[in-house]
Amino acid sequence: MRLTIMGCGDAFGAGGSLQTSFHVRSRASTFLIDCGASSLIGMRRLGFQPNDIDTVFVTHLHGDHFGGLPWLLVDALYLSNRTRPLVVTGPKGIAARFEMAAEALYPNITTVVRGFDLSFIEYEERKPLDIGGVTVTPFEVKHPSGAPPYALRFELEGKVLAFTGDTGWVEALCQVARGADLLISECFQYDVSLAIHLDYLTIDANYQRLGAKRVLLTHMGEAMLAAAGNVDSSRYLIAHDGMTLEL
Ligand SMILES: [Zn+2]
Ligand SMILES: [Zn+2]
Repeated sequence: MRLTIMGCGDAFGAGGSLQTSFHVRSRASTFLIDCGASSLIGMRRLGFQPNDIDTVFVTHLHGDHFGGLPWLLVDALYLSNRTRPLVVTGPKGIAARFEMAAEALYPNITTVVRGFDLSFIEYEERKPLDIGGVTVTPFEVKHPSGAPPYALRFELEGKVLAFTGDTGWVEALCQVARGADLLISECFQYDVSLAIHLDYLTIDANYQRLGAKRVLLTHMGEAMLAAAGNVDSSRYLIAHDGMTLEL
């Protein structure tokens, strides 16, 4: 499968990066992991077609992770003339939060007759979901966002791709990451330990316990970007928009 980083930024535009969204093209399906507000822009930059997306897996309900969904709908209705179904997975209440966001931005957009099915599936703690040839297991983490936030562990094509989402350190991350071919870890801070975000020193102190084969750092704030020269390159890859990885 091919993973492309459409956006690796935080909520504050650090480094000029687009907001969080990862594009995965696999044999069975094409999907996004998170869909920050700038995701449609990221797709256009990289030449991806919105109509190719089968599933959007959302980690938590902050705008820099799910705020791009209204623009996917606008595009599907008025430009791409979508006909194939779109499935969105996320925390409990995601359909209502999506409707609130979409209606605030484009009144009546959610009641326009659609030529495609748009469905929402809510996570249940540690219950695997099988969608489009992908098995995803959600693990609740720590990041207040009006609904439970999750780290996600994807299994497809015999590989494991793990993503922390946004979170303070929780032991569940070791289960999410164990043996993963790639762990995508948020790394908002360098040496400031927060209850709701990860920092490089905490990640590195737990590197062996996480036990992933490769670790990609993303969602870096300005302080982390300024300290990026201190990152151990034998352990970590540093994300940038447009980067691709084969898994
Ligand atoms: Zn975020
Ligand atoms: Zn967040």
